[in-house]
Amino acid sequence: MELACLDLEGVLIPEIWIAFAEQTGIEELKATTRDIPDYDVLMRQRLAILEQHKLGLNEIQAVIAQLKPLDGAADFVGWLRERFQVVILSDTFYEFAQPLMRQLGFPTLFCHRLEVAEDGRVVNYHLRQKDPKRASIQAFHSLNYRCIAAGDSYNDTTMLAEADAGILYNAPENVIAEFPQFPSVRGYDELRQAFINASNRELTL
Ligand SMILES: [Mg+2]
Repeated sequence: MELACLDLEGVLIPEIWIAFAEQTGIEELKATTRDIPDYDVLMRQRLAILEQHKLGLNEIQAVIAQLKPLDGAADFVGWLRERFQVVILSDTFYEFAQPLMRQLGFPTLFCHRLEVAEDGRVVNYHLRQKDPKRASIQAFHSLNYRCIAAGDSYNDTTMLAEADAGILYNAPENVIAEFPQFPSVRGYDELRQAFINASNRELTL
């Protein structure tokens, strides 16, 4: 029995914070886990910037409502779900992801929660657990699932290491160089082939 575990942002959808930064013109909001590997440091910085600019969940959701999954992502998810049980392991928040998950057919999503005040200010964030991507793979192993995982960034590398097979997808050069143990692919055609290669079953494209 095999699970496919996918990162969300950068693999199936655009980086939400970057899209929001472009819309608002706030350059500092463009930092992601690609730039700041410590997620808590990154999130504290994002919340402080939102507070400083008096921006809340409503403004962020207005931007997200205009976003679409990456070209080919919905087809890829459909292809993958015919061959694996698929779980998306993301460091995004349920409050952000809903409109985009609808466009992907609502695959299973494990992520985090924001704490939002009545006036819409984002006052805190709650991680589901520590090192959630790795912990999820460990839990799936305890259920006797073999796991193949794909992600694009630093926050995916413990998941890729814990999985039975890890794949870097459209990763930046610094991540590829730092983690040469993982095969690195670009585009959904290569990713389909990488999942077939990593499977212990005889799958076809
Ligand atoms: Mg990502």
